[in-house]
Amino acid sequence: MYLKSIEMQGFKSFANKTILQFHDGITGVVGPNGSGKSNVGDAVRWVLGEQSAKQLRGGNMQDVIFSGTETRKPLGYASVAITLDNSDHKLNVDFEEVTVTRRLYRSGESEYLMNGASCRLKDINELFYDTGIGKEGYSIIGQGQIDKILSGKPEERRELFDEAAGIVKFKRRKAVTE
Ligand code: ATP
Ligand code: MG
Repeated sequence: MYLKSIEMQGFKSFANKTILQFHDGITGVVGPNGSGKSNVGDAVRWVLGEQSAKQLRGGNMQDVIFSGTETRKPLGYASVAITLDNSDHKLNVDFEEVTVTRRLYRSGESEYLMNGASCRLKDINELFYDTGIGKEGYSIIGQGQIDKILSGKPEERRELFDEAAGIVKFKRRKAVTE
């Protein structure tokens, strides 16, 4: 499984529809200060269900919507879609390719889609349990996070090991049936 593409429209500095394509292997994103490198990481966190505006370096969630420039009007919504190659079926769905989309309108309305079909945030969370990809996963290591892991409480560190060992889904299921 690997990230094939990120499509952003109206998300932070990406006013125009922007598609980044990746291949199996390592990709570096380079550019001058303020050109939007970190915004790409924010886009991935956001589409995976990040609910904290602060984690996305904003004051409230509407701050992810393109707010305009001197020459361009603000936009009414932000949309991000990531496509993952699932030919090894590490994600427990039949699809060879999985696209997860999140949209947010200025009105506050928002939606999540999985391969084009409307779904709940819960469905997206469940799709990524135990893969390391979800927003609680370790696929995005932010600045300061390594420190947090090293100096964190043993219970917090345990959560990371549970995710890596692939037992989160069983724990969640047990919690639901108890
Ligand atoms: P550095 O090298 O300094 O880390 P970077 O490439 O990571 O820079 P980002 O932090 O991704 O840069 O991008 C910052 C830019 O995104 C700023 O110019 C900021 O004005 C712009 N930006 C952030 N949110 C929005 C928004 N909602 N609408 C328009 N532009 C935005
Ligand atoms: Mg940056």
